[in-house]
Amino acid sequence: MKALSMSVNGLRLNERIQSMAEIGEIGLTGVCRLAHSPEDKEGVLQVKKWMDSIGLVTTIDHFGNLIGRMNGIANDEPVLMIGSHIDSQPYGGKYDGALGVLGALEVLQTLREQNIEPKRPIVLVAFADEEGSRFNKGLFGVRGMLGKLEEGELDRRDKNGMTRREALIEFGCDPEKFHESIYDPARIAAFLELHIEQGPVLESKNEPIGIVTGISGPLWMTVEIEGVAGHAGSVPMGMRQDALVGAAKVIVKLNELAQEIPKAPTVSTVGSLQVFPDSRNIIPEKVTFTVDLRDVDEARRDKIEYVLRQEIEKIANEHSLTYTISEDTRSEPRFCNENILHIMKEESEKMGLTPPELMSGPFHDSLEMSYVCDYGMIFVRSKDGISHNPKEYSSPEDIALGAELLYKTVYRMACQ
Ligand SMILES: [Zn+2]
Repeated sequence: MKALSMSVNGLRLNERIQSMAEIGEIGLTGVCRLAHSPEDKEGVLQVKKWMDSIGLVTTIDHFGNLIGRMNGIANDEPVLMIGSHIDSQPYGGKYDGALGVLGALEVLQTLREQNIEPKRPIVLVAFADEEGSRFNKGLFGVRGMLGKLEEGELDRRDKNGMTRREALIEFGCDPEKFHESIYDPARIAAFLELHIEQGPVLESKNEPIGIVTGISGPLWMTVEIEGVAGHAGSVPMGMRQDALVGAAKVIVKLNELAQEIPKAPTVSTVGSLQVFPDSRNIIPEKVTFTVDLRDVDEARRDKIEYVLRQEIEKIANEHSLTYTISEDTRSEPRFCNENILHIMKEESEKMGLTPPELMSGPFHDSLEMSYVCDYGMIFVRSKDGISHNPKEYSSPEDIALGAELLYKTVYRMACQ
């Protein structure tokens, strides 16, 4: 790769990522900033301070989104929106989300320092609760802002029994005033997001950054299986209705189903499981677990879901169990805008790069934005493909390249 003169300040960006990681840090490299938590709030206030320092007009809306606006020459034009999220998984890393918010901040600061006034306004958003880990439903801030919350969402509880409503109020939001925080989609021209890849593809191709072509649709379900409790020492094996044995069979089956078509990118995961009453000498009475199923091909994903539901029925009958399946999230694959892809390709060529195009398995705030405007995404290489873990790592050099491409794309879309 030829030496490149950069517009953005990669050192400043990487320093900010490191200092954000001190908020809610776990161990040496991990981060825990759960949505609407005190750590999340501290993070929001830190980013707000940085936004204020470069003269953005900042607000924190009633969903907990942090919004910073840079006015444009034609200030009534629909805005170019950029950003990501700063909440994290409970045992997360320092780059997921933070890179997109702080990378966008770096882009705006660079425009300021170069005395470039954008033609249209540019709005940086740090969206609230992208991860969905605390209340088991993600993309909260972006959906809230676009008026797409579902009924009952505020009554969802975290592991300590706190409702989303209570957490929002503690954060400083007023759920009664959500209507004041709706962002008219007609005011958004396009959305750009910089994010770590969270997978091994770029590393395997030895490329620092990639251009995203679309996001494959996640299907999230919660399965609850109920049997009958009994003493582990006295109930004979043939007479048991063990909910955990049933759940175990379902989990193995789901794993097999996702691998049935050898080259398909289908992925399935059970990542959370609760056993009741969770005692070593009681036969499990009730098991609740999550299902996460993704594919770029929606029809193929739906077929796996159909077979899975049949298998659950079969396994439940076999073990005399009852069950319920509830759907938490169902979205379709969403493809990036061709023009934005084209701009990104051109600009990266000028940087001497040939970033591969790739689909995103994980979803992002971009997924929701895709329903109201054109969107584009840039991925930065993840070491060993690891994410949602303290081992998450992207090199300062790769991060700077990702931010530089974001800068050049923003310049083309909002300043020319
Ligand atoms: Zn993320």
